[in-house]
Amino acid sequence: LVVLDKVNKHFGALHVLQDINLTIKRGEVVVVIGPSGSGKSTLCRAINRLETIDDGSITIDGRPLPEEGRELARLRADVGMVFQSFNLFPHRTVLDNVALGPIKVRGQDKSLARTRAQALLDRVGVGNQAGKYPAQLSGGQQQRVAIARALAMEPKVMLFDEPTSALDPEMINEVLEVMQQLAREGMTMVVVTHEMGFARSAANRVVFMADGRIVEEADPHQFFDNPRSDRAKDFLSKIL
Ligand code: ATP
Ligand code: MG
Repeated sequence: LVVLDKVNKHFGALHVLQDINLTIKRGEVVVVIGPSGSGKSTLCRAINRLETIDDGSITIDGRPLPEEGRELARLRADVGMVFQSFNLFPHRTVLDNVALGPIKVRGQDKSLARTRAQALLDRVGVGNQAGKYPAQLSGGQQQRVAIARALAMEPKVMLFDEPTSALDPEMINEVLEVMQQLAREGMTMVVVTHEMGFARSAANRVVFMADGRIVEEADPHQFFDNPRSDRAKDFLSKIL
């Protein structure tokens, strides 16, 4: 579904993505882990074209990423993204946060979009918060709204960039459970996270990045129980 072929990206002299080759199949859950600064966020942002790349190619469903305009808006709808900071519209209700994208980008009928938004909010467990503003919700609730908002666009793939790292510990699980559920339903997902429990139970594949490169790619059991590279061993010894 998503194919990165020899992708390179520099920030000035810094080579943040180095010859990244990665194929994400439909329905696959890929967890990306690695030390701070290794390029994980840049990788996610490149797939959504929030970041341009210097060379190589990224295709979704065999089509290169569009550069601008309506096509780019459609790409952003097809590739849902959930960030560490929830990025909800502060002056819109929770329901509007979820319904506005489908209305504006997908051209959906307003009342249909609102009905569907309510159903999505119910699904992520915040249906009773629909009339509130984001600031009136807990972090875990806001993040679940952010997930519902991305889902409302009926994305082909969902990217999560450390979705739980800004949350208080007691709210982490409620967000991870929504993500687990999505994974079980067959959503194609790329998840940058330090939640190793989630990686073990939900990932089909773990991609370990360091210094802008994919150092190791393995199924989660092999990766956690028997990492091959010294970089991965060193990283795991620090976080587990
Ligand atoms: P973290 O775990 O801390 O989120 P990361 O793996 O997501 O790290 P990136 O955010 O992708 O890492 O950053 C990779 C490198 O690129 C870092 O050295 C970072 O400082 C640098 N970088 C990221 N964005 C920019 C930018 N807009 N301009 C210049 N350098 C940047
Ligand atoms: Mg990051």
